[in-house]
Amino acid sequence: MKSAKNNGKNEAKIVQLEELSWKQINSLDRKKTIFFIPFSPLEEHGPHLPVGTDLLTARDAAKEAIRLVNKKKQELTIVLFPPIPLGYSKMASDFPGTISTSIKTLKTIVSDVCSSLARFGFKYFVICTFHMDLGHLKGIYSGMSKAMKTHGIKIIEPWGPYFYNKEVEKREPQVGFDTKKEVHACFRETSLMNYQYPYLVDPSYKNLQSIYRDLYSPRVLGKTFKDIGINEGYVGSPARADSDYGRWYFQQIVETYAQATLDLLDGKKLPELPKKTQLLMRSMFWIK
Ligand SMILES: [Zn+2]
Repeated sequence: MKSAKNNGKNEAKIVQLEELSWKQINSLDRKKTIFFIPFSPLEEHGPHLPVGTDLLTARDAAKEAIRLVNKKKQELTIVLFPPIPLGYSKMASDFPGTISTSIKTLKTIVSDVCSSLARFGFKYFVICTFHMDLGHLKGIYSGMSKAMKTHGIKIIEPWGPYFYNKEVEKREPQVGFDTKKEVHACFRETSLMNYQYPYLVDPSYKNLQSIYRDLYSPRVLGKTFKDIGINEGYVGSPARADSDYGRWYFQQIVETYAQATLDLLDGKKLPELPKKTQLLMRSMFWIK
């Protein structure tokens, strides 16, 4: 909306859905309005990071991506939906602070949220999630396809394709060790939080031993961290965290959300989850 004011930091104010009246919402140009929906669960992230690590990252990156897209396309109104602190996180569910909802529930939430706006002619939705559990993505993607089929709208989820196509490993700066084993509350996520919220990172992370497990092996699907001997709730080497890497990583998320949005509006073909990942996701019928 053109009436957006500065928030004092000389940054354009983000339009937040909860601050608008129905009249203001109704006056938005359907062809030029996009909703960004931050969506990640509260989930334990080791003894050193807050349970909101994924949610805060998704929300903050969504805000920066909105600013970036608006810089390039001022005619667009990008509306930030209140961050939804829900997701599927069976694996981390044996630690307090992890809030895991069923896959079916996620499907319903995604589909109902988008449908409630699609009823009034809104067409474009960007789900901003940072949580990459396949069960979580399964819920999101089923909800997306239900709402898209029903209403003929466009909903995208940009980070899954980036993540599962291993773009992080292809693009990241050299750090001098093998980052493939960095999985959860690890070097990458600790770096991210060191960059975004240093005051929320417990300094004890510097003394955490490296712990490695292949969480994507089919043997591990459906198990919890404690089932597989992960008792502190992290997999990787948090002690190596580096806020410069965190800045780079955060920027990747921002650019991935923003680029996917621009491509969506330009009618370009967007990156998809690899076939292998889609198959694995669909085969998870026993996980609820
Ligand atoms: Zn995380």
